[in-house]
Amino acid sequence: LNRRLATFGTTIFAEMSALAQRTGSINLGQGFPDTDGPEEIREAAVRALRAGHGNQYPPGPGVPELRDAVAAHQERFYGLTWSPETEVLVTTGATEAIAASLLALLEPDDEVIAFEPYYDSYAACIAMAGAKRVPLTLRAPDFRPDLDELRTLITPRTRLLLLNTPHNPTGTVLTPDELSGIAALAVEHDLLVVTDEVYEHLVFTGAHHPIAALPGMRERTVSISSSGKTFSYTGWKIGWVTGDAPLVAAVRAAKQYLTFVSGGPFQYAIAEALALPDAFFTGFREDMRRKRDLLAEGLRTAGFRVYEPEGTYFITTDISPFGDEDAYAFCRALPERCGVAAVPNSVFYDDPEAGRSQVRFTFCKRDDVLQDAVERLARLG
Ligand code: PMP
Ligand code: GLN
Repeated sequence: LNRRLATFGTTIFAEMSALAQRTGSINLGQGFPDTDGPEEIREAAVRALRAGHGNQYPPGPGVPELRDAVAAHQERFYGLTWSPETEVLVTTGATEAIAASLLALLEPDDEVIAFEPYYDSYAACIAMAGAKRVPLTLRAPDFRPDLDELRTLITPRTRLLLLNTPHNPTGTVLTPDELSGIAALAVEHDLLVVTDEVYEHLVFTGAHHPIAALPGMRERTVSISSSGKTFSYTGWKIGWVTGDAPLVAAVRAAKQYLTFVSGGPFQYAIAEALALPDAFFTGFREDMRRKRDLLAEGLRTAGFRVYEPEGTYFITTDISPFGDEDAYAFCRALPERCGVAAVPNSVFYDDPEAGRSQVRFTFCKRDDVLQDAVERLARLG
């Protein structure tokens, strides 16, 4: 393994899911639902497969039906208008969108400012691009970005701000004021913005606001989302990028040599999913809100300090009430101790000490599974 990747090892999600499986534990570590998304969307994929839609290489930018649907969805929810021909690109999940965006837009030694704790692929992709990661730490208990601190992190080498709202793992949802402040700095310093909005439909407090809609941002923002979270088909790996044509063309140039194209039949199904009525999106969110409350209450009762998330399907907790163990050791031992697996936030910080007492649990699981997990966690005592 080369020097750029040598420090990254196996992702924490694979490690903790393997541990959960080995120990027969309830897996509240890796974020994937234990119930598939709408049956009609699965049937749409089956229909596409049977009809031979997308069984051979689909078009590079994605099938027209899905590009139209992505554009229509952005217009319906945010009033943003994108040309399906030149301003929408289908990717193999948000993961490829992140990789392709960073590989396309960064020069070696450019600096990228990203929130910390960060989703693990950000650090690896910045490294693969030969660029340098500069963390803006979101600190407990509120996990808000400090814009004065952001200003001090910007140097002549800063090329790009990598945002994530709603934020994994803290659940922070950027407010209109925070977004305006970030946008003003991006314009002032002529920075690009890549924004990961895969949890756009999982906001419980406030609302999701795409930064691309703010003045001066359209021409400098690459927005990323994915069907995995919203439609509960994480295995299909259909994501997308929207942005001004020159930016999307750049990302597409990188995508060509990463995957060339993305899974054909699934694209037709996700095109239908994006057109589901508003009731689907609100129903999904309200269902997840209930699950959040169920797990948060259970974690509190079990003795965790709970940082209530405004969005996503994760809860970050503080484990100090259980002693001085660090989060990684705690998560390695948790399955043996009580039959539940979680993820240590410490691995999402440049300095693991900063997340030493933080552990993340997901609540995208059936109610009976969450109930069982809560009862097991209560035995921790
Ligand atoms: N970004 C964030 C913040 C995530 O939590 C995830 C998790 N799946 C991804 C990107 C990757 O999405 P996908 O599965 O569509 O590649
Ligand atoms: N996004 C999910 C999480 O944060 C899982 C992604 C993965 O396994 N790479 O848990």
